[in-house]
Amino acid sequence: MHIASVGISKLCFLCSLAFCGLLLLLIPAFQPPSRQGDLPQPRPHARPARAGGGSANTLRHPGAPVVSVHAGETALATWLNGSTTETKVTRSGDQGPGRGTDSRKSPEGGALPGGKGGGLAGSRSRDPLELKDIFIAVKTTRKYHKSRLELLFQTWVSRAKEQTYIFTDGEDKELRRKAGANIINTNCSAAHTRQALCCKMSVEYDKFIESQKKWFCHVDDDNYVILPSLLRLLASYHHSQDVYLGRPSLDHPIEAAERVKSDGSVSVKFWFATGGAGFCISRGLALKMSPWASLGNFISTAEKIRLPDDCTIGYIIEALLEVALTHTHLFHSHLESLQKLPTDTVLEQVTLSYGGFENRRNVVSIGGGFSLAEDPSRFKTVHCLLYPDTDWCPRVNPRQKN
Ligand code: UDP
Ligand code: MN
Repeated sequence: MHIASVGISKLCFLCSLAFCGLLLLLIPAFQPPSRQGDLPQPRPHARPARAGGGSANTLRHPGAPVVSVHAGETALATWLNGSTTETKVTRSGDQGPGRGTDSRKSPEGGALPGGKGGGLAGSRSRDPLELKDIFIAVKTTRKYHKSRLELLFQTWVSRAKEQTYIFTDGEDKELRRKAGANIINTNCSAAHTRQALCCKMSVEYDKFIESQKKWFCHVDDDNYVILPSLLRLLASYHHSQDVYLGRPSLDHPIEAAERVKSDGSVSVKFWFATGGAGFCISRGLALKMSPWASLGNFISTAEKIRLPDDCTIGYIIEALLEVALTHTHLFHSHLESLQKLPTDTVLEQVTLSYGGFENRRNVVSIGGGFSLAEDPSRFKTVHCLLYPDTDWCPRVNPRQKN
């Protein structure tokens, strides 16, 4: 009997223990950890602050060209975005697909101005190109100071005084009074010979290098430079790229005996931009030209290949440095028929020219406040359409069109 009651008490004790255990299991704090599949979904977090104010997948790293985000950061970004794509960051001004020899061309072979066709550097640049970054060299000679230069000073040069440099061959007190230090007397011969023209180009090159500006553009004294178009075109590249922009005067490359790298027994073919339409070179490329162009070397290079100044530029860039000319139809010389340029595109061009007054006029066909007799080159008309606020421009009734 005694033994039987002890057994019952033990049983009751075990039952109460089991009951207490069951109660403990029902209290949530004592529940065992749930399985992986039951993990709560991450709630959206405020994104961590990052240099440059980028979002989680545009982490900015200004010190390096292309930065793969650190593994830990990738994991964080993935977790935040629910994406597994590794984030790559491109800093502004880095090497894009057009870096190096830039041969972007439109189907007709014209350069694609900024914005169209993947303009590169302009859109990426943190530091936009300004007119003051461009060195514009105007080649002239004493006898054209009055007949040609005055028109340029009256028109486009007046809008780019600081960055336009006049390369001439004779002192002219009146011109110096007007343009001061930007008149450079090259002391080159006033003859229209290959040597005299190369002498001027050589001084133009050295002055540009000295200037620290980003772009070198050369024009003749019978060119009008449409400054907003020039700025737009150059802003679509980067001055540290190798860029040589201009219009070839021929539809095929020129061939010359190679007398710089070899003894002249082999020939070399290359394109060049005609000087009469103007051309531009980036600073990065100009610096590479130095062994053949600086401090009188340009004259000896031209002498070796026996070609004029603009061909020598093409030879150094295309044949020696192996950088291709970017062909553009935005530059114009009077070697082409300027009347053929559609009137509604004239103000979008980069350079214009005029010629043939004596016989047949070769000028752009554009109407405005001046007749052909008053403005035979059409430069004043173009200028007044671009800058109608100019004091000598006729006040035209906006409804009245010529
Ligand atoms: N030029 C020069 N020296 C001269 C004759 C011309 O420096 O003895 C310059 C002129 O000022 C112009 C360029 O060379 O900037 C081309 O001259 P031009 O327009 O008379 O000739 P073309 O365009 O027919 O080559
Ligand atoms: Mn000319």
